[in-house]
Amino acid sequence: MENLKMKRVLVVIAIIVMTTSVVFAAPVITDSVNVVLQGKEADFGDKGVYLEDGHIYVPFRQFFESIGYDVDWDAASNTAVAKDPLRISSYVDREQKVDAALWQLSAEARACFIQAFNLATLRFDQALEKYPDATNLAVIADIDDTLVDGVMYTADVLQDGEWTNDAFGRSLASEACKPLPGAVEFMNYVVDNGGHVFYITNRVSSLREVTFETMEKMGFPMVDEDHIFIREDGMASSKESRRNIVEKDYEVVMILGDNLEDFADLFPPSEGVQARRDAVDEVYDMWGDKFIILPNAVYGDWEKAVYNYDRSKTLEERMQDKKAIFDYYKYTR
Ligand SMILES: [Mg+2]
Repeated sequence: MENLKMKRVLVVIAIIVMTTSVVFAAPVITDSVNVVLQGKEADFGDKGVYLEDGHIYVPFRQFFESIGYDVDWDAASNTAVAKDPLRISSYVDREQKVDAALWQLSAEARACFIQAFNLATLRFDQALEKYPDATNLAVIADIDDTLVDGVMYTADVLQDGEWTNDAFGRSLASEACKPLPGAVEFMNYVVDNGGHVFYITNRVSSLREVTFETMEKMGFPMVDEDHIFIREDGMASSKESRRNIVEKDYEVVMILGDNLEDFADLFPPSEGVQARRDAVDEVYDMWGDKFIILPNAVYGDWEKAVYNYDRSKTLEERMQDKKAIFDYYKYTR
């Protein structure tokens, strides 16, 4: 701690501007410099501000504490750390998912999941009435955030955890990985009543083993190569070709997913938010009937649609696109 007090660290203005409005009084010829934060002159006590070789120096701890940051000193690595206590993640784009991830853990979300599988069970009963020979009936389901809760991975990523397929695989293999409420029961209900279930997922081939092991462990039925279609190397993210394989031999009475692209290639994120909303309306009667959708506010093609699926856009450009969406919909526009 003493080391920190002795140090004066150059504050990079770009970092500060991200979180607060900082105005430095014009450093012209004096070594006595005033600093104005949010309209008020900052008082750093005897740890003054000074100008040297064209740089303005302020005391690290006093400066960041004055704008509400927690400051820590790691003596082992000689590192001063400032962190905004109002943020969970160090990354802007991850931080924006915090409330969405909390919503996925809410009782309201849980009720939505249960509601979806209750409705799916009702629809399968109706299919059995329509097609008494169930041996040709099939249900297709996505896996992640449709049957299996991904919150254990999200919770880690939001706290600056590793965001890779390897880390995702480790999260799937962990005890924290659980099925969504009603998912195992529904998929077994279909099979117990003579139907078939197919899993069409965009998990990559390196996750094949953990997928089979964990789906079986959680109690899902028909966990085998004939019924689980992962995204093989070189395969497009579209699930259309894999759906076609199932539809060739079975009467698909229901598709479950958390992303519109789980259902059909009718909702391209490259065409933007409103186009996808319109496309949903074009198949209005299918929602809650053949198409059962589960809520996922954390990620999905809905987010890519905001920036028209243009992967070349910078974070700043994506932020501008997000603002443009709100500008388009706000009542005072
Ligand atoms: Mg999914």
